[in-house]
Amino acid sequence: MGATEKGTTTGTQRDTGTGAGRSGAGKDADRRIGRRSLLIGGAAAVVGSAVLARDELGRLWWRLPGVEKPRVEGAVDFRGARWVAASTANFRWADRPDDYAIDRVVVHVTQGSFASAVKVFQDPGHRAAAHYIVGRDGRVTQMIRELDVAFHAGNREYNERSVGIEHEGFVDRASSFTDAMYASSARLTAGICARYGIPVDRAHIIGHVEVPGADHTDPGPHWDWDRYLRLVRAARGAGTPV
Ligand SMILES: [Zn+2]
Repeated sequence: MGATEKGTTTGTQRDTGTGAGRSGAGKDADRRIGRRSLLIGGAAAVVGSAVLARDELGRLWWRLPGVEKPRVEGAVDFRGARWVAASTANFRWADRPDDYAIDRVVVHVTQGSFASAVKVFQDPGHRAAAHYIVGRDGRVTQMIRELDVAFHAGNREYNERSVGIEHEGFVDRASSFTDAMYASSARLTAGICARYGIPVDRAHIIGHVEVPGADHTDPGPHWDWDRYLRLVRAARGAGTPV
């Protein structure tokens, strides 16, 4: 994916998310150049350091600038996830974490069934979608690659810096959130945190309601954050595969 194409895409698409859209495509181009320069500096430091273990370098190669990460049809970022492609109108092609660093996980609730969430994310008219949907039974469907910017947070900057996870259910219904869902989602988030070096805490694993400017209340009062963070930490400690 070339920079020109990305620039064009950025200029023509809006992040409608589920809240207010954001503008400022012109500024965005400058910002990307700045980030790219920073990355080049960072990568040079990585390459210049002889202290990194070989296997660590093996995991970091794709962070080097200019490396096109492979896109394989149907590939998923989370082992065990089922791939169902979202409409390309509901996300923006990107090359994260090279072009945008990923430092947040945003927790959502679908306000509907698993099937209806999959359906609307496939609908180009919806103009919003998350990377993942976790079902009440714990199943995980991935609809957008983590490389790409999903329109889920209703805030352009937060879309660019985060991975969005929808959970099947309703914010006002405590019974929506099952043991299987918590366990499965926690493994998913642990993997995301491991891949991008995101700290497992409430500053970095947030609800949609906590996104600046968000007019949504999900995941709502019945989402047990203490339990969720505990499960993510446990999964992370158990060496959830990167
Ligand atoms: Zn949401």
